Amino acid sequence: MRFILYDGDTSNSRGRTGVASPDMIQLIRPHVPLIEMARKAARERGQHYNQFLVGAAGTFEMPDGSRQQFVGGNYKPTPGTQKKCAEHFMFEKAKAAGAVRVVVIAVAGPQKQDDESGVEGLTLHPCGVCRALMRQNRMVDDNTLIVTVQFSNGEPIAVELPTATVEVHSLRGLLAFHHDPT
Ligand SMILES: [Zn+2]
Repeated sequence: MRFILYDGDTSNSRGRTGVASPDMIQLIRPHVPLIEMARKAARERGQHYNQFLVGAAGTFEMPDGSRQQFVGGNYKPTPGTQKKCAEHFMFEKAKAAGAVRVVVIAVAGPQKQDDESGVEGLTLHPCGVCRALMRQNRMVDDNTLIVTVQFSNGEPIAVELPTATVEVHSLRGLLAFHHDPT
């Protein structure tokens, strides 16, 4: 498994990178169901003229303390359409249901260079617009975990941990990685 872990320390914003240790695999393993939910959302809900399908899934805390998952897929059916991100639909649904806090977010999609920052991770990160919105979103805080995983349409939904490409960031770490204003 290839991975990067960003701990949010800006002096070390590239975090640790390399071949996953058993510890790292233990860190990712609890998030596998959410990662698979994000991949499924990419395939089933993503709409993109060029099959650049992205899915997001989040575990949210509800007012009664219970947890609930919400998902979204990206929307850009023609090159001329204003894009709407998978994260946008996920947060919209969570908000409508009354969620108070997001615990962890998983995003699955094809890896590419970030349009806004020009920075490139091992996997597709929430875009600059989504990162800016998350900074302002009261359901998110600096320590919210963001798990990103490679996924191209045609790949299996199931995550094979020894070979999957996964990154784990805190929101703070992700912002630092992209040199976003904080
Ligand atoms: Zn976005």
